[in-house]
Amino acid sequence: MSYNSYIMDKKKIIIISFIVLFVAVFSGCAFFSEKKTVSIVNSEQGSVNNEQETVDNSQQAEYSSQQKVDSIQNPADKEQQAADSEQDAVNSDQEKEDTETNDEQSEIKNTAKIIERFVSWGFEKSSGRKIDTIIVHSSYDALGSEPFSVSGLLNEYKQYGVATHYLIDREGKIYQLVADKNIAYHAGESKVPDGRTGVNAFSIGIEMMNTEDGKFTSEQYSALNSLIVTLKNRYSIKYILGHKDIAPGRKTDPWNINWTNVQK
Ligand SMILES: [Zn+2]
Repeated sequence: MSYNSYIMDKKKIIIISFIVLFVAVFSGCAFFSEKKTVSIVNSEQGSVNNEQETVDNSQQAEYSSQQKVDSIQNPADKEQQAADSEQDAVNSDQEKEDTETNDEQSEIKNTAKIIERFVSWGFEKSSGRKIDTIIVHSSYDALGSEPFSVSGLLNEYKQYGVATHYLIDREGKIYQLVADKNIAYHAGESKVPDGRTGVNAFSIGIEMMNTEDGKFTSEQYSALNSLIVTLKNRYSIKYILGHKDIAPGRKTDPWNINWTNVQK
C-alpha cells in the first residue's frame, strides 16, 4: 500500500463515517420528531379532553345550581300544598297509591266510563283480597240543601268515616271513590247467604243516589249494569245483593230498587 492510497483510504473512511453519522443523526431526528408529533397529538387530545371536562364541570355546576333552585322552590311548593285544602293533600296521596293500580283502572275504563274521585276516608288499604260480592246501596245528602249533590254526599260520608267503592249519581255518572283492592266501609255488620260475615272484606260497594221515597233513574240502572259487567269481567262474582239483604232489620236500602232492571 502506497502513501497516497493510504490517504485515499483514510478519506474514504472519513466520508463513509460522515455518511453513517448523518444517516444515524437523521434517522434519530426522524424518530424523535415522530415522538414529538405523537406527544403534540397527545397534548392536543389532552387539551380537548380538558375542554370537555371543563364543559362537563360547567354543566354539572349548572345542574347543581338548578337543583339548588329546585330545592329553594320546594319549600314554596310545600307551603302552597299546605295552603291547599286538606282534601287536595289527601287526594294527592291517594293518587300516588292509585298509580299502582293504573292498569286495573284503565282496563275498567275500557268498558264502563268511570270518573275518579278518590276519597281519603272510609276504607283501609289491602292487597290481594278476593272479591266475589257486589253490594248495592242507596243514599242522598241529608245534611245539605241539595239531596243529590255528589260533594254534599261525600261530605256526609266523611263525617261518618264511610265510603263505597263507586257512586252513581242521578244522571248515571259513575264515580270511583275507593280502589277496588282496598276494603271500603260500606256494609257494616253483615252476612251473605253462605254464612260469611264481615262482607266489606270481600265485596265491592256501589252507592246509587236516591231518596227513601224516590225511584232510580233509567240512567242509573244502565250505569249500574255497565259497572256490573265490568266487575264481572274482572272478578268471579258470586252475589249481587242489596244492603238490606246482608243486614236485614238494620238496613232498608237500596230503596225501591227494581231488581228486574239489574243485570245479575
Ligand atoms: Zn247501604
